[in-house]
Amino acid sequence: MSASQRIKSESLFIDAQTVIPGGVNSPVRAFKSVGGTPIFIRKADGAYIYDVDGKAYVDYVGSWGPMLLGHNHPKIKEAVIQAVQNGLSFGAPTEIEITVAHKITELMPNIELVRMVNSGTEATMSAIRLARGYTNRDKIIKFEGCYHGHADCLLVKAGSGALTFGQPNSPGVPADFAKHTLTCQFNNLNSVRDAFLNNPTDIACVIVEPVAGNMNCILPKVDFLSGLRALCDEFGALFIIDEVMTGFRVALGGAQSHYDVVPDLTCLGKIIGGGMPVGAFGGKREIMEYLAPNGPVYQAGTLSGNPVAMAAGLACLEELSQNGIYPRLNELTENLANGLRTVAEQVGIPLVVNQVGGMFGIFFTEAKEVSSYQDAVGSDAGKFKQFFHLMLEEGVYLAPSAFEAGFMSVAHTDENIQHTIDAARRAFEKML
Ligand code: PMP
Repeated sequence: MSASQRIKSESLFIDAQTVIPGGVNSPVRAFKSVGGTPIFIRKADGAYIYDVDGKAYVDYVGSWGPMLLGHNHPKIKEAVIQAVQNGLSFGAPTEIEITVAHKITELMPNIELVRMVNSGTEATMSAIRLARGYTNRDKIIKFEGCYHGHADCLLVKAGSGALTFGQPNSPGVPADFAKHTLTCQFNNLNSVRDAFLNNPTDIACVIVEPVAGNMNCILPKVDFLSGLRALCDEFGALFIIDEVMTGFRVALGGAQSHYDVVPDLTCLGKIIGGGMPVGAFGGKREIMEYLAPNGPVYQAGTLSGNPVAMAAGLACLEELSQNGIYPRLNELTENLANGLRTVAEQVGIPLVVNQVGGMFGIFFTEAKEVSSYQDAVGSDAGKFKQFFHLMLEEGVYLAPSAFEAGFMSVAHTDENIQHTIDAARRAFEKML
């Protein structure tokens, strides 16, 4: 289907812009960086999303990560339906919150206590407040191109939409707030050591995406994460690993188990809600006890631990704990990455594909590897834009930005992967 045949999406987008800023409720959905009209979705099932004009696409966005089991998973759907029978929200404790907390602490043993919130943004914002309260220090270190949600102190040199739109420092964030955020280079421990040496007793925490998934997909170099751990220990700062994207995607125990690194605090989101709005943060008991009501650091939420969201999340985590999910997820993603590399080479398109677990990134670049923010922004976003639209015509839905990771699900089939590789070959040939 050509872009001109997306008649219903186009008319919905016109209408949407009359009542919603930019026509969307989250900026990257607007297709600004790739151009064209966003596709409005009617429904999704397994590996597919279906637009309002009746076209199906093999989906590599997966609602930006949560759909590791595929869309509309029967067990998650059933759990939600069952939960809804008993009411939607109570604002009082429920048993399922304990079950979910046990499940998370069992799957991620570095988390001893966990607090549920409603989004990844809330998780990172709260973890940072806790780190500041616990250490009695104000400054934080984050990495250029890493996105941790849109809390003021974290919208400094951020990735994702903030990078796509070229607004790393959003207006509306007072300089007085942003001045406590120091920005270092991902995969560059020296930049972190320098920041610590310049502020030896002021840094509350380092927060990092263990695999940077908001400047496309950049893997940590050997020793980067363990080096951050060591620097935090040396200077008395807390180490926060933001696994909102990587948790239960890079491995069942998250990137922290895959790379064998121990954080003080972990942030979660996306997959733990199975598609419902959920986030969480947790970590060492002694630190988490600093939270209200037992401790002095305030954090709260009217809908936190919502029973319907907990039911979806629990069903998702139980399903993920089944044997065979992660080997299959890896196999599918590796096959896609290898297939794309092979056809790019055969056609003569310079391409780097990064991959770990169920996430991947495609870079149009002459470079041999992409391992830094500079490498990522140095790749050819114009070529990506062309590729994105050619793939859309082929019925493959990639993230509408050169700076977002791709997400695999275990609902994808070998046929889906082959279709995607064949489509990429045709797209590359047209791009020559
Ligand atoms: N941290 C990371 C690593 C993320 O990728 C995101 C969102 N993509 C967030 C935090 C923010 O999560 P949310 O959009 O649910 O607020």
